[in-house]
Amino acid sequence: MRRAVCPGSFDPVTNGHLDIVTRAARLYDQVHVAVMVNKSKQGLFTIEERVALIEESLQDYDNVTVEVFHGLLVDYCKQRDIPAIVKGLRAVSDFDYELQMAQMNNGLSGVETLFIPTNPVYSFLSSSLVREVAAWGGDVSHLVPEHVLRALSAKLRRDA
Ligand code: ADP
Repeated sequence: MRRAVCPGSFDPVTNGHLDIVTRAARLYDQVHVAVMVNKSKQGLFTIEERVALIEESLQDYDNVTVEVFHGLLVDYCKQRDIPAIVKGLRAVSDFDYELQMAQMNNGLSGVETLFIPTNPVYSFLSSSLVREVAAWGGDVSHLVPEHVLRALSAKLRRDA
């Protein structure tokens, strides 16, 4: 069985993430979406909320599973026998950092990283931008699924 992981913080999941995960799901038998816990970053959504939002977005994909992971991505891959990491590349600005990470991960464990060029419609899109625009009342309805939009509005109302 060919397996791959799509890692990230997904705070919250956007149409850009979903574009990459669903394209990976067409290439691999099993895709693991790994919600990586970053202790130094205080998120808007809790880890459990992020997982639930991703699961709802991908409920029609039988070969996609969503999981939380604390630790090094290469350890996640080793534990589950996953040989490939799939990442989206938005722009040249992503490339420097992604290249370093891919080389580090390959050096650590031999895991390969494959890049999928983003749909140009989403090349400017990041979770942080979505949070920021939504916090100031901007319209992000074309950038996230409807249930994520509802969760964002509820969360921001509560935090206001
Ligand atoms: P961000 O906060 O920038 O959205 P994440 O850590 O949640 O970052 O993203 C995880 C991965 O998802 C990124 O490394 C990238 O591979 C992919 N990704 C995020 N946004 C997009 C996008 N708009 N288009 C393509 N891939 C994306």
